[in-house]
Amino acid sequence: MPDVLYINGRFTTTDERVLGVEDRGFLFGDAVYEVFKFLRKTPIFLAGHWRRLERGLRAIEIPLPWDESSFASTMRDLLERTACDDGIVYIEVSRGEAARTHFYSDDMKPTAIAYSRRYTFPDAAKKARGIRMITQRDVRWRHCDVKSVNLLPNAMAKKAAQRAGVDEALLVDDGLVREGASSNLFAVLDGRVVTHPLDEHILPGVTRDHAIALARGRGIPVDERVIAVNELHSASEIFVTATTLGVMPVVQIDGRACGGGTRGPLTTDLQRALDDAESREVAGG
Ligand code: PMP
Repeated sequence: MPDVLYINGRFTTTDERVLGVEDRGFLFGDAVYEVFKFLRKTPIFLAGHWRRLERGLRAIEIPLPWDESSFASTMRDLLERTACDDGIVYIEVSRGEAARTHFYSDDMKPTAIAYSRRYTFPDAAKKARGIRMITQRDVRWRHCDVKSVNLLPNAMAKKAAQRAGVDEALLVDDGLVREGASSNLFAVLDGRVVTHPLDEHILPGVTRDHAIALARGRGIPVDERVIAVNELHSASEIFVTATTLGVMPVVQIDGRACGGGTRGPLTTDLQRALDDAESREVAGG
């Protein structure tokens, strides 16, 4: 079903074919993207998504199509026009369209698009059941902190997970846990919540930030350090975070039960805390 589409300052619907074949996003993956969640047409954690988008655009030298306030008002306009109450907005900004050559000129006009999609977020049963993962070798480039559209390694790892009958791939680099193919990973080790530090090996997840702040706010110690894959066997709980998943327990990795094989108390508590934080966003408009 078509829904609202924003492109370069105007609104249309997703029925309209809007991109040129020589757009560098298509030809070179020369683009960054963002995904935020909305509930009752209210964006959730929009400021964090804007900050990451802005940082990514600056990192790959694409001129900003918005400032923070025009971004927020464009997204609110889009949500007013959208057909659904709850869903996700996909945003992509590419360097723009030009005759194909690797060199890009400094005065290109970026292509900025955003569209909404209905999305069914995990229900209470799914959040209690959790997900299963398989490990996959992390073969991505060394700027995973930039949310670029070059998702082929992630898509192939996800496909391997699907073929194995599980939900998500855990990307492992020389025995070190990086993150999920589309999520950040946390382990509870000796009563401490541990997750990979922010560096070039992982995406700085917006949900990750909230999970860390919520845990610390509850007096739970959080360590941002690299986890060896062997340490996962001794984790009392494992969970992943993502915009579309929230806080999601991981109950099996590579066919072996982990974190006790069921959702743990800390994960349950953080799920509730994140739901509350989202409800506060909705209430605050
Ligand atoms: N890591 C990767 C590789 C991802 O694609 C995502 C989802 N965008 C995440 C982590 C989670 O990020 P967020 O919480 O901002 O959705």
